Amino acid sequence: MCQSCHVRAVSTYRTAGSDGQQPGTTGEGAAGLTTHAPQAANTVTLPGSLDEAVEALAAMPAAVPVAGGTDLMAAVNSGLLRPAALVGLGRISEIRGWQYQDGHALLGAGLTHARMGRPDFAALIPALAAAARAAGPPQIRNAGTLGGNIASAAPTGDALPVLAALEATLIVAGPGGSRREIPVGHLLAGFEMLGPGELIGYVRVPLLHAPQTFLKATGRTGPSRATASVAVVLDPARRHVRCAVGAVAPMPLRPLDAEAWVSSLIDWDGERTLAPEACAAFGEYVAAACIPDPAPEPVLEAAQSPQHGEPGTTLPPAVLHLRRTVATLARRALGRALA
Ligand SMILES: Cc1cc2nc3c(=O)[nH]c(=O)nc-3n(C[C@H](O)[C@H](O)[C@H](O)COP(=O)(O)OP(=O)(O)OC[C@H]3O[C@@H](n4cnc5c(N)ncnc54)[C@H](O)[C@@H]3O)c2cc1C
Repeated sequence: MCQSCHVRAVSTYRTAGSDGQQPGTTGEGAAGLTTHAPQAANTVTLPGSLDEAVEALAAMPAAVPVAGGTDLMAAVNSGLLRPAALVGLGRISEIRGWQYQDGHALLGAGLTHARMGRPDFAALIPALAAAARAAGPPQIRNAGTLGGNIASAAPTGDALPVLAALEATLIVAGPGGSRREIPVGHLLAGFEMLGPGELIGYVRVPLLHAPQTFLKATGRTGPSRATASVAVVLDPARRHVRCAVGAVAPMPLRPLDAEAWVSSLIDWDGERTLAPEACAAFGEYVAAACIPDPAPEPVLEAAQSPQHGEPGTTLPPAVLHLRRTVATLARRALGRALA
């Protein structure tokens, strides 16, 4: 344990230690705070409620929130991040579960991947449960949270394409007990950002009561980050198939034309089946939308290019392989949702 790390007791917050705690010692802290990281913050606050956490961030503008710490502490340990102070979210019980609200599930940002992977959650939001089960090794799934996955916004975040396909929204907690709701896609695309002192409190997900799937391809066997992932959800009330592709771009991509095309083929009042050829065509449609052919290069550049006879007309082999992977994932994801 780092000798410079200690938990500072703050009167309004529950802390790991007591006011009399000696520097050089620490309580159990939020998950991930008990590392040896010499660069870790020397002030750690452990609030017991969302509003207390927001207050703590407002009081210490240089402080960084930490939930499971799986992303943040990796950055600290590798020297990429040196937070002056940390606000641990691990003791905020109100964001560690979920509740029903107007045909939606209100998911706490502190839900861990392990919790979301359990059967009761899978019965509610099957694609999110499948993504949670695929999110890294067990140690990561036990600590890593939904809110951390969203705030990190890594292209390989497994929850992200699912939330995009579900058109989930985020309930953001701000100073003075304020709450605002933003579409998850707006945050991931950078249209709307978290303001100073704001935290993701909850994720609002519609309960569609219909099949949904999440599939992920990785570069190796065993738990690993996605090279491509696809979420497909059926929305019978709106007679629509929604799809999002993860890991192939900085944010999840929605192939809207492919969605509209395949939705028009489905008999929503009947058996909701599709011929294998239609599922395959959907896969190709999705893949071409997310990984399009390169635009033709200007004639002058084409003539000067030393490498290709017709530059710009084909994708490099690795990208073609990725496109085939996306096509396969999308075909299978739709096939399983309709099976
Ligand atoms: C070995 C390894 C393998 C991994 N494999 C996968 C994988 O296969 N799939 C995958 O999706 N992810 C993977 N991850 C990434 C990581 O586990 C997930 O992104 C996880 O969900 C992050 O959650 P956390 O609670 O640990 O976030 P933290 O590390 O605590 O925080 C991450 C960021 O989010 C911010 N933050 C956290 N909570 C909130 C909140 N409520 N409001 C606002 N900001 C917040 C923090 O300030 C920080 O900037 C892996 C990580 C590791 C180390």
